[in-house]
Amino acid sequence: MRILVTGGAGFLGSHLCERLLAEGHEVIAMDNLITGDVANIEQIRNDGFLFIKQDVTNYIYIDGPLDAILHFASPASPVDYLELPIQTLKVGSLGTHKALGLAKAKKARFLLASTSEVYGDPLIHPQKESYWGNVNPVGPRGVYDEAKRFAEALTMAYHRYHGVDTRIVRIFNTYGPRMRINDGRVVPTFIAQALEGNPLTVFGDGTQTRSFCYVDDLIEGIYRLLMSDCHDPVNIGNPSEMTILDFAGIILKLVGRPEEILFKPLPVDDPKVRQPDISRAKELLSWEPVISLETGLKRTIEYFSARARHRE
Ligand code: UDP
Repeated sequence: MRILVTGGAGFLGSHLCERLLAEGHEVIAMDNLITGDVANIEQIRNDGFLFIKQDVTNYIYIDGPLDAILHFASPASPVDYLELPIQTLKVGSLGTHKALGLAKAKKARFLLASTSEVYGDPLIHPQKESYWGNVNPVGPRGVYDEAKRFAEALTMAYHRYHGVDTRIVRIFNTYGPRMRINDGRVVPTFIAQALEGNPLTVFGDGTQTRSFCYVDDLIEGIYRLLMSDCHDPVNIGNPSEMTILDFAGIILKLVGRPEEILFKPLPVDDPKVRQPDISRAKELLSWEPVISLETGLKRTIEYFSARARHRE
């Protein structure tokens, strides 16, 4: 297949490009590099790979046929989308519209990267795809949550009205090599703090929960979804849930540092709990995560410490 990955120079986009190339597909990565980085794709040596620097909120022109479009462009960490609120709304709305229009014109399959944030601060736990969510549209996180909810609605409209062959993946907290060290998310932040010998900044009292999925597991789930014929949203994430305070303890132990925590205020509308119900992915895709938190974190810590050594 000839596949376009928007956000192809980002954390997930770059892992996806590599996986698609390894499966023998031709890949075009598109990115405006506001949160992506060409360093994430510079190791790719493959004649079937092309990078185009473009903002997908503008008209997208691609020469020749396309068999699939994976729409992964968007700021994705709370710090990023608070700093880039308008771009976040635009890429989820206008960018999704352009990418769907291209899919329709090329008769290409379309896969939307959606998010567990569509569930907001959930009142149902764990979260099943049938739950409609609890999102504050006018809160600071609304720029991301509502953009992704709109993107899902637009994707289903193109599917129902234009017959576009669509997929929607709802991605839960994912971590691994190539996260930006300063993207503000808990995994790179805690690892950087632990490696530098600084206290770990736990927001609130640390009783809020998250469930962390290693990037390779997530990419496997997305690839299976792409190859399936499922048009309804599918949660992909790791159901192993923990409090952020316990997570801080795990990072400190793996890095070999004593317990030192600095409590900071909880960001507005920070979800209190989050855990994917992955029954649908298990049933339809025969998928479940296989990489343990310890294995995934060790690989991620190694990535960040190698980069720190490189900078010295
Ligand atoms: N968090 C924290 N300290 C940090 C960064 C994040 O305690 O330095 C918390 C944050 O408040 C949230 C959780 O960790 O409850 C996960 O945050 P992240 O930004 O990784 O993603 P989210 O799941 O909120 O989208």
